[in-house]
Amino acid sequence: MKIGILGAGQLGRMMAISGYPLNHQFGFSGNTNDEPASLLGHMFALEDNAENIESLVAFADVITYESENTDVEIVKEINKDIPVYPGEKSLFTTQHRGREKALFDQLNIPCAPYQMVNSLADLTKAVSDIGLPAILKTATEGYDGKGQFLIRHTDQIKEAFDSMQGVESILEGFVNFKRELSLIAVRGIDNDHKYYPLVENTHHNGILRLTIAPAQTIDPKVQETAEHYMQTLLDEMGHVGVLTIELFETENGLVVNEMAPRVHNSGHWSIEGAHTSQFENHIRAISGMPLGDTSPTHAFSAMINIIGKIGPTDLVLNMANASLHLYDKTERENRKLGHINIIANSQVQLDTSIQQLKDFLPN
Ligand code: AMP
Repeated sequence: MKIGILGAGQLGRMMAISGYPLNHQFGFSGNTNDEPASLLGHMFALEDNAENIESLVAFADVITYESENTDVEIVKEINKDIPVYPGEKSLFTTQHRGREKALFDQLNIPCAPYQMVNSLADLTKAVSDIGLPAILKTATEGYDGKGQFLIRHTDQIKEAFDSMQGVESILEGFVNFKRELSLIAVRGIDNDHKYYPLVENTHHNGILRLTIAPAQTIDPKVQETAEHYMQTLLDEMGHVGVLTIELFETENGLVVNEMAPRVHNSGHWSIEGAHTSQFENHIRAISGMPLGDTSPTHAFSAMINIIGKIGPTDLVLNMANASLHLYDKTERENRKLGHINIIANSQVQLDTSIQQLKDFLPN
């Protein structure tokens, strides 16, 4: 099958790498010829030629995308000719934090208290209703902690409001969490669905640095609850493909932070750590193939992001239980350049391996 991907970054690159053994071909929309995926398929450069989207559609049997910031109007247009998965509802909902939270409320999925903010008066009221600390976030297009302001004192309200530069935002009550977790699931066109185990994520300056998979000491009831929230969302949105939800583990149970209608950085461990990776399962789902086994291949896995600088990669290449995945990107501060996957049979082996690779982690 011919699969068109809107975007040509590392997620598209890894989808294509996983899809070639299944006999699929890939085309990407992008702006330049030096994006991570541009040598992995046909490129339909959008910057020079808006009509290239039509060429991509003419090329493809099905379209998917890498980002929840994909233009819904483009997806609607494409949908007149060929299917786009995940569908419009998944994309429309997840690209706006307010719509996402409203859906969580509607489905009785616990999330932080929130209020939408369009003016300084809105923010003042939201702070007084929700209390402090609270986080002000842009309603759309925030990622890796960008577009966020942690408000601790009322005298920061004006500064926080100004930092949003007039764009719609959302104030969320601060959640006192023990750990950050995420759950990745995949749903096929035929409604078959599978879940990966909950994983534990550690962030530094808003950027994911380390994922441990499965998250250790998870009560099976917690996994069950997370899967229940996930299934409710998959069904409600008629989702096809991979869906990710990020959660906070608190004293009072799980609180959902946000979701993404796509393969996710916290699922990169699955390339070596699960029988079928999130990338392959996404491609299987959108191309109507049977979904693959999501269970882990090893008792312990970890994923370390390579951020900003590539670092001493020979260390990784010399380890039998570590795999290097680079995205063909140039070094730049805070940029995701690649990741390292570790597989281990014991907690001790996992800890030792992470320790060996500590140069890739923040101090
Ligand atoms: P987000 O862009 O929503 O994923 O937020 C980035 C990071 O900020 C999260 O991974 C958390 O570490 C933190 N964060 C976001 N929202 C909250 C919240 N309501 N309470 C506490 N921490 C939060």
